[in-house]
Amino acid sequence: MRKSPSPVEAPRHVLQLPVYMDNHSTTRPDPRVVEAMLPYFGAIYGNAASASHRFGWEAAEGADRAREQVARALGAEPREIVFTSGATEANNLAIKGAAQAYQRRGKHVVTAAAEHKAVLDTVRRLGREGWEITVVPCDATGRVDAASILPVLRPDTVLVSVMAASNEVGTINPIREIGRICRERGVVFHTDATQAVGKIPIEVNDDHVDLLSLSAHKVYGPKGVGALYVRRRDPMVRLVPQMDGGGHERGMRSGTLPVPLVVGLGKALELAMEERDAESARLLVLRERLHRGIAGRVEGIRLNGHPTERLPGNLNLSFAYVDGEALMMAMRDVAVSSGAACTSVDPEPSHVLLAMGLDEDMARASLRFGLGRFTTEVEVDFAADAVAEAVERLRVHSAAWAFSKTGREV
Ligand SMILES: *Cc1c(COP(=O)(O)O)cnc(C)c1O
Repeated sequence: MRKSPSPVEAPRHVLQLPVYMDNHSTTRPDPRVVEAMLPYFGAIYGNAASASHRFGWEAAEGADRAREQVARALGAEPREIVFTSGATEANNLAIKGAAQAYQRRGKHVVTAAAEHKAVLDTVRRLGREGWEITVVPCDATGRVDAASILPVLRPDTVLVSVMAASNEVGTINPIREIGRICRERGVVFHTDATQAVGKIPIEVNDDHVDLLSLSAHKVYGPKGVGALYVRRRDPMVRLVPQMDGGGHERGMRSGTLPVPLVVGLGKALELAMEERDAESARLLVLRERLHRGIAGRVEGIRLNGHPTERLPGNLNLSFAYVDGEALMMAMRDVAVSSGAACTSVDPEPSHVLLAMGLDEDMARASLRFGLGRFTTEVEVDFAADAVAEAVERLRVHSAAWAFSKTGREV
C-alpha cells in the first residue's frame, strides 16, 4: 500500500489513498472516542477497584459512566455488564461459563455453521471435553432459520449460541424468534452481536437474549476491550468464571479494569446510538452505489448474503473465474478482505461461504467490502473503478473465463 498522511483530516471530497474498506475487521477509532479516553491515560490513573481514595473514585466514575452507556445501548441494566478484553473473551466466557454452570442439567450445546471462529472453536473445545454439540446449518443467504432451532432442542440442551449479524456476509439473523424459542424451552440464549451492536436495533429484553457479546473496536472504539451482557433477572443467568483473581466484575471476570479502554467503549456506544439511524441510511446509499458501480461494469458477479436482511455497510461479492486473493493484490489502493484469507496463516476458503453452499472456487472468488463511518462517496467511486479494472485485467489472462464466454477453448 502507498504511504499516505493521516486519512481523516482531509475534507470528504478529497480522495486519500489507500482507501479503507475493511470495517468488519476493525474500525478507525472516532476522534471523539480518543478525546474521551485521553484523561484516563494521564491524570486519572487510579484503580477503579480502589474504594478508599479519590484516585480510585475518579477512575470508578469513568468506568461507571461507561457501564451505563453500554447498558443503555442494549436496553440492559449497568449491573448486567461485564467488561472483557473483547468479543473473543466475551464469547469464551459466555459459552464455557454457561455450559459449565448448567452441566448438571445437561451437556448439549447448539450453535450455527456460519458463526465466527471465536464461537465455533469455543464450542468445539466443549465438544472435546464431553459436551454434545449440534451445529445447525444456514441457508444460501447465510441466515439461520428460527424454525431449525426447535427440532434440535432436547431435554439436556442448556445453551444456544447464534450470532446477530455476520461479520463476513452481513446477514442479519432472526435472533428475536430464536430467543423466544429458547426462553420458552428454558434454554440459555447467547448471541455474538459484535457486528450488530450500534448498527442495527438490539434490545436484550424484547429479543429474549440472556448473554450478548460485543467489542469496542468494531464500533469506532479502541482495541482490547469489549463486554458481555449477563441477564440478572427473568431469569437470572449463572456463569462459571473463566478468570480467577480479585473478584472484579461481580466475580465473573477478575482483573483490574483498563479504565481508558472501558471509557472509550462507553463513548463509542453512546455515539453509535445517537448516530445509528442516520449513519445506517448513509451507509445503505453508499453500499448500493458501490454495488451498482461494480455491477454496471463487471459481468459474472454474485451477491453473497441476504439481499435485504443485511448490515448496511456490508457488500460481499464473488467474481466468477477470479481468485479473490489475486484480485485483492491487484487493487492495492483499496483495503478489503477476501473469502479465502480470514487470517493470513489460514488460506482455506471461508467456512461461512462454504456453509452457504458456494463451491470452493466461488468462495475463493469473493471479496468483502466493509463500509463505515468514515467512508466517503469519492472512495466508493474509486473502489468501484479499481475493482472493475482489476477484474478485467485478471480475466484477460483467464482461459476459463474466455471459455465460459465463448464456449470455445482458447
Ligand atoms: C471481530 C469479531 C469477533 C472478535 O472480536 P475481538 O474483540 O476482536 O476479540 C467476534 N465475533 C464477531 C462476529 C466479530 O466480528
